[in-house]
Amino acid sequence: MPDPQRKRIALLATGGTIAGAQSTTQAGRYTAGRLSADDLIAAVPGLAALADLTCEQVASVGSQNMTHAVWAVLAARTTALLADPDIDGVVITHGTDTLEETAYFLSLTLPWCKPVVLVGAMRPATAMSADGPANLYQAVALAATESAARFGPVVLMNDDIHAAQGVQKMAAAGVAAFASPNSARLGVVAGTRPIWAPQVGPSLEATFGATAAQFDVRQHAPHTWPRVEVIYSHADAQGDAVDEAAARSQGIVLAGVGGGYATDAVMAGLERAVARGVAVVRATRTGSGFVARNIEVDDDAMGFMAAGWLNPAKARILLMMCLLAGQSPQVIQGAFLRA
Ligand code: ASP
Repeated sequence: MPDPQRKRIALLATGGTIAGAQSTTQAGRYTAGRLSADDLIAAVPGLAALADLTCEQVASVGSQNMTHAVWAVLAARTTALLADPDIDGVVITHGTDTLEETAYFLSLTLPWCKPVVLVGAMRPATAMSADGPANLYQAVALAATESAARFGPVVLMNDDIHAAQGVQKMAAAGVAAFASPNSARLGVVAGTRPIWAPQVGPSLEATFGATAAQFDVRQHAPHTWPRVEVIYSHADAQGDAVDEAAARSQGIVLAGVGGGYATDAVMAGLERAVARGVAVVRATRTGSGFVARNIEVDDDAMGFMAAGWLNPAKARILLMMCLLAGQSPQVIQGAFLRA
């Protein structure tokens, strides 16, 4: 007789360092995405005691190679699992390089109804003091906690719980590489128990109601998703890179200096892009802060949008989804300011 209290968690594996293997424990060099989902589970003592787990291998990539095609499969598969009455939560193992992008994409394209936890590791599975097993253990514990559903897909790294919108990989190495620079973490996992941060408060839990996906991409093959490119700004940047990007894309995100700015040459290129119908969003390369409209740039006159709190990589995703949905610049700007 199955225990009705016992949670049933689906694990979707995509690769990454959490599944990475070295040739020797001492080697710095390793290959991401070597181990299977079953190998990962077998490496975590006590995992089976936490929940009933089923696992599927969705991809085996280093997340620097994450693709829209894998995102489409993840969105479709996770949506199906969330609708399954026999599944209480979903854990997605993922490389850390683009973890924040996949989490944000899923936050826009999944219903928020049951816990979805994305988890990675900074050290390969074969390393001394690998961080993957503890992260995976906590991710399963979190996915088995109903209250985690109220934040949509969350990221669990190094004891910390982060919202998909705010989380960022802030360092190239080290187990404490993740933070939410604009909003702080949502909480921590202590043992198997999530402890929500004071700013989150218990009242939100009481008001949580399941919400439908903001964007449903299941009817759109990934090769039909609008192309949005990111242009990185720096001293003496020229406008020709913008013209080239504008010729092949429907959207451009500026990873601008400061409050989303760039040289006059790049700004002129962006104005030319708007004139040919390309949607332009100004974001900041600084790593945190709000990019507001009409401060040092006259967005109203130039036809630009401001990214608000979103970093350039996430601004690319929101712009792509809004363009796919055929939204007007006014509606898109509203979506950024609310994100
Ligand atoms: N390059 C790896 C990846 O993103 C790094 C990691 O997982 O930590 O897959």
